[in-house]
Amino acid sequence: MGVVETVVELLYYLALILGSVMILAIIVSVVITVIVALLLAYSFKTGNVLFPNLMISGLMFFDSPVKTIFRTFGVGEGKIDRIGINLKNRAICPAFRKTPFNRRAIFVPQCLRSVRCPAALSPEGIMCKDCGACNISEARKKAQTLGYKFFIVPGSSFIVRMIRQYQPEAIIGVGCLCEVREGLDMMHRSKIPAMGVIMDRAGCVSTTLNWDKLYDVMSLSEVPLDGGNKQETTGTDTSAEKSTTPQ
Ligand code: SF4
Repeated sequence: MGVVETVVELLYYLALILGSVMILAIIVSVVITVIVALLLAYSFKTGNVLFPNLMISGLMFFDSPVKTIFRTFGVGEGKIDRIGINLKNRAICPAFRKTPFNRRAIFVPQCLRSVRCPAALSPEGIMCKDCGACNISEARKKAQTLGYKFFIVPGSSFIVRMIRQYQPEAIIGVGCLCEVREGLDMMHRSKIPAMGVIMDRAGCVSTTLNWDKLYDVMSLSEVPLDGGNKQETTGTDTSAEKSTTPQ
């Protein structure tokens, strides 16, 4: 057999192996996609979550094909995202609960403010003046009483900067469906336990939130309050706080 024939035969076997590996990868991907889709469908029906960690990874890596399957059955993307966020919250909840309050941070979007908000922008985000025109003031006080760092977010890069600066060990992120989904995936990759709270009405201004949902997540803890409780002042204009103390 000549050299040319040998090379051709080697290339043939190489192509055969590569083709087999690709076909195997496609089959494995289809099987995982179907398993994740079936587990999601089970969650839709029953409200129970099986294998949450597998589902989180499956949703992260097979987001598009899973959504394509559900679209075929008339299930909207929004509903799938909500279920996905719910799953991620449930999966991460045990690690979140173990983190002391004073090592956690909360990020709320600036669109939750009143349109008449007098707060100014600072390097630490929007500094609430406790004017009382929106619920952020009350939420901030509750959070800081527990020991949280509390930030009103002026833009997405701000969150990364504050995480680098303060290195919280757990996070609560408030936002619209898309922001919360992307934020949780980002935190999952960074291995920071993060809980997402979705706003009731999204938009650029005057968005709304069921604040009780935030307070419920905020109070999740296995750590006693005096095991690390500490008042923080991030996210507020302290001069304004002194001048607006209730009479
Ligand atoms: S309570 Fe704070 S965030 Fe809300 S409108 Fe007043 S100053 Fe702005």
